[in-house]
Amino acid sequence: MSETLVIRSRRMVLPSGVTEAAAAVRDHRIELLTDYGAPIEADRSVDLGDLPLLPGLVDSHVHVNEPGRTEWEGFATATRAAAAGGVTTICDMPLNSLPPTVSVTALADKRAAAAGKCWVDVAFWGGAVPGNQDALRPLHQAGVTGFKCFLIDSGVTEFPPLDSAGLRSVLGELAALDALLIVHAEDAAEVKAASGRDYGSFLASRPPVAERRAIEKVIGAAAATGARAHIVHLSAAECVAMIAGAKAAGIRLTAETCPHYLYFAAEQVPDGATEFKCCPPIRDAINREALWRGLEAGVIDCVVSDHSPCPPELKVSGSGDFGAAWGGIASLQLSLSAVWTVARRRGRTLDDVVRWMATAPARLAGLTAKGALAVGYDADLVAFDPDQSYTVDPARLLHRHQVTPYAGRTLTGRVRQTWLGGTALLDPDIGAPDGEPGGRLLNRG
Ligand SMILES: [Zn+2]
Repeated sequence: MSETLVIRSRRMVLPSGVTEAAAAVRDHRIELLTDYGAPIEADRSVDLGDLPLLPGLVDSHVHVNEPGRTEWEGFATATRAAAAGGVTTICDMPLNSLPPTVSVTALADKRAAAAGKCWVDVAFWGGAVPGNQDALRPLHQAGVTGFKCFLIDSGVTEFPPLDSAGLRSVLGELAALDALLIVHAEDAAEVKAASGRDYGSFLASRPPVAERRAIEKVIGAAAATGARAHIVHLSAAECVAMIAGAKAAGIRLTAETCPHYLYFAAEQVPDGATEFKCCPPIRDAINREALWRGLEAGVIDCVVSDHSPCPPELKVSGSGDFGAAWGGIASLQLSLSAVWTVARRRGRTLDDVVRWMATAPARLAGLTAKGALAVGYDADLVAFDPDQSYTVDPARLLHRHQVTPYAGRTLTGRVRQTWLGGTALLDPDIGAPDGEPGGRLLNRG
């Protein structure tokens, strides 16, 4: 007979709001939610008192890079960092690993590489690239969360972009499957080559119009095909109005932004500081404010990390050349604190953060047992102290590499414990996973 765990908190973040409650967990799932003081027979019980309990975050945008570029990031290291950061499900991106996840065989390679190494649950995106349209249906049937494509060079040659006709064709195919396409939306015609240490030149090389033109294409193709499309890592806030208009017109469009666009502003990026390089780039403070408003208005649906690390020598070479450095920011372990630090200053609540970082990404990825603290859902839970501040010490990051633009920043809000399916993951003394990895490999649904 399986054990029952009871967790009590006076600040439980439920879909209906923050309230005092008790949760009984059995067989991996939340079996019962009841009054804080209700007597429940339990094998183990935890009383968090005033410490909030959240559903585990779902980060639908993580580049793990294994197999093939495991020296950049791997399943063991990425999922340890996720657990420490309160993220209980990640969705792995189909590129930067070798092979990229563009066929059922490649998906099997991914799953084999991930098996037995994951501290949190892992789901997989498939890839849509020129020439693999016949693989989309089998990948969908094999359980991927949807498909990722680029409209511009992806940074790796084995994952080429779709042109406008390819985008339309793929969306037509996915509409028939009711599968989701997530799109890296920058238009190559509006992007210039960049080089040198000057952040302003790099920023100018990837202007907002590049995102605008690409999102226009996605909206047009989604409207024409009736397919579901999602804009990943929106940076240019001027696109919020266009996305709102498309949604209002009934086009099946969603969008995400990332912690770095909500936390940093271009004015803070020193020349040569390539740890801040990502594509699209971190823009100015006015843009950041407008992104926040788009999020608060519900036009931007999710906040997910786009955790995309690489070895330090590819990220922060001595020259500080923004043209040469890899574009990608490592933040899986820090996303919750980074977003909460700004959100609480703006008067937002933990419900908002849970909606942006757990509920909406779970829905996006079709993970029906994830993203909410509710009966029948997986007992993926996070005890989170919203008042405790800390300074980011890269030595304490569990990502494979410690380079991050958050180094030395003081963030507010600390994960105190993470449960996966009712199993506590963190050694409270060190805040890192302890024991054996028990994460599962998930299919959509
Ligand atoms: Zn990405």
